Amino acid sequence: MKSGICYLVGAGPGDPGLFTLKGRACLERAEVVIYDYLCNPALLKWAPDSAERIYVGKKAGAHTRSQDEINALLVEKTRAGKTVVRLKGGDPFLFGRGGEEAEALADATCSFEIVPGVTSAIAGPAYAGIPVTHRAHNAVLTIFTGHEEPGKPESSLDYQAIARAPGTKVMLMGVERLKAIAGELRTAGMPSRTPVTLVRWATTGAQQTLAGTLENIAERAQETGFKPPAVAVFGEVVALREKLNWFETLSLFGKRIAVTRTRKQAGEFVERLRALGADAFELPTIRIEPPLNKREFYELVADSHIYDWIVFTSANGADAFFKAFFEIYRDARDLGGARIAAIGPATADRVRSYRLQVDVQPEKYVAEAIIKALQKETSVENLKFLLARAEGAREVLAQELTRLGAIVDEAVAYRTVPETNDVTGGIRRFREEGADMITFTSSSTVENFLALKLPMPPDIRTASIGPITSTTMRAVGLSVDVEAKQHDIPGLVEAITKYW
Ligand code: SAH
Repeated sequence: MKSGICYLVGAGPGDPGLFTLKGRACLERAEVVIYDYLCNPALLKWAPDSAERIYVGKKAGAHTRSQDEINALLVEKTRAGKTVVRLKGGDPFLFGRGGEEAEALADATCSFEIVPGVTSAIAGPAYAGIPVTHRAHNAVLTIFTGHEEPGKPESSLDYQAIARAPGTKVMLMGVERLKAIAGELRTAGMPSRTPVTLVRWATTGAQQTLAGTLENIAERAQETGFKPPAVAVFGEVVALREKLNWFETLSLFGKRIAVTRTRKQAGEFVERLRALGADAFELPTIRIEPPLNKREFYELVADSHIYDWIVFTSANGADAFFKAFFEIYRDARDLGGARIAAIGPATADRVRSYRLQVDVQPEKYVAEAIIKALQKETSVENLKFLLARAEGAREVLAQELTRLGAIVDEAVAYRTVPETNDVTGGIRRFREEGADMITFTSSSTVENFLALKLPMPPDIRTASIGPITSTTMRAVGLSVDVEAKQHDIPGLVEAITKYW
């Protein structure tokens, strides 16, 4: 049996872009992932589908595991020879009990490694425009936990020392005990007018901030119903937020956007939206699977050199085609002299990524347009065409080409099936919290979204990648609030930004 290893990995504060490369590499080879409440579940998509995912968070699930049970679980899985990733919010060694988990593994003589993460104690303030140190203001940073009840005799926190320390203080946990803690700090001599800012769900599109002073922050938090998880920053550096508040001023900040795409492709779209500050999340509705008749597809691909034209109608089709092609042939020249047509810029880009030039690329992202573009190039009569397409896709293109005298073979390259695994928790989130907007990037995402039978929030806005998708949306009774002018992801992102 191979020997197991456990990686204690910092998941960062929430923005998936702040996850480390080393953490991702660990996830990619994980057999077991054990994660909790503060880890962004979007990170789980890096783990293989086959990996066992175990949620040990305190919220959401009814059953809460004690720390001893979590330690025992880590040891058990590692001893069983597994590659275990223990994902912990922020940095595993800053108030994350990562030290205890590492000790448990060491005591059990299990192999382990630590992968530090970006901590919310520093990144949280940074996303609120607050540098925790600044030459003009301070040279000392104190990070403390508000977890312990102030005034309790067994409390190990020395509020006197914290209040007396110069510089910025950052508190983790303890929003619920803010009143008692602020009182304690004032009694210990921290000036009442000390600026304080709370940052909730920092670094995500759901980030909220609340500003005040040591004197009034607890009251304000209570009035506004400010909830954990949040970090609290105390000190002069808080004032810099006025000048440096870069994140909350992004164009899509705070907008909750559900992205319905296949799981593999959603990443790029969600990342673009997040980069604009949106609280974007994936609602995977469909999954790409090999065609039912794989043999027929492979035979057509193997014969691709006999065709005059190969037509790609989607990036997925191109991927499926070249995956099959390079399983059959080792030399790109085996493709022969076929010319290549690709519908839409994304499809053309994907074809080019295989180092093949695209001869015809119709402007519009609709099948009919390709015929016009082809006819500009040549007469299609008696020419052999291979169409790489999705199962059940529209057959207009094949019919039209045949009618014009072309000899057409349709290679069913892949099929889309409903995605039933909610690996990143997006479906649960949509059901529980809704969203401000939902996006559709193909007719099949519309149909498969409906198949999930999720409740539609009353005020939700809808965005469509183009006219064909919009027609499908209207046909099933959805309104279309935004339609992209350029029918690809950058075009859709642009249209959404304009709309808001
Ligand atoms: N190891 C973590 C901290 C774990 S203690 C880290 O390095 O960030 C849990 C506390 O961290 C929460 O109560 C909250 O105070 C803080 N926290 C973690 N993620 C946060 C986030 N995205 N926004 C605000 N606070 C966060």
